Amino acid sequence: MADETVLEETRLDDTRKYDIVVRMLKERGATLEEIAELTFDLQKEYVPELTMDTCLEHVKRVVMKREVQNAVLTGIELDILAEKGAISEPLRTILMDDWGLYGIDEVLALAIVNVYGSIGFTNFGYVDKLKPGIIKKIDDVGKAKDKCNTFLDDLVGAIAAAAASSIAHRYA
Ligand code: MG
Repeated sequence: MADETVLEETRLDDTRKYDIVVRMLKERGATLEEIAELTFDLQKEYVPELTMDTCLEHVKRVVMKREVQNAVLTGIELDILAEKGAISEPLRTILMDDWGLYGIDEVLALAIVNVYGSIGFTNFGYVDKLKPGIIKKIDDVGKAKDKCNTFLDDLVGAIAAAAASSIAHRYA
């Protein structure tokens, strides 16, 4: 009985966390629909019958995963704290300036990509290099002096890549 209660609370927590994660992503500049557009671009070549609805469905499925939620919650929180000046130096400057050799933003995003194996990894590398659509927008906003999107761009790219991998597994 006690175990059941714990399980039930955990499940409720994940649903609540899903809503929080979706809201945080949107407030920081990325809707699930915009992420699904990246997924569509990654997979359209391989799955001719692919629709935006299918992409959105897989993006939602990715964001339901606990590993993904935890990565997003952690990364976005660090972006926000950096903007507020609530992070000590030298990390604050590293995050505010999106220092290229920092690398932990990509490492955190791998926690998302790894859920779907090696295709996810390849897709993430592609998004990270080309910076398509919403990723470019997020990067440009992050360049403002008082804004920090150091983690957000990688999280969004990773969710899109993970959803693309989820589709690839389904249609392969
Ligand atoms: Mg980054």
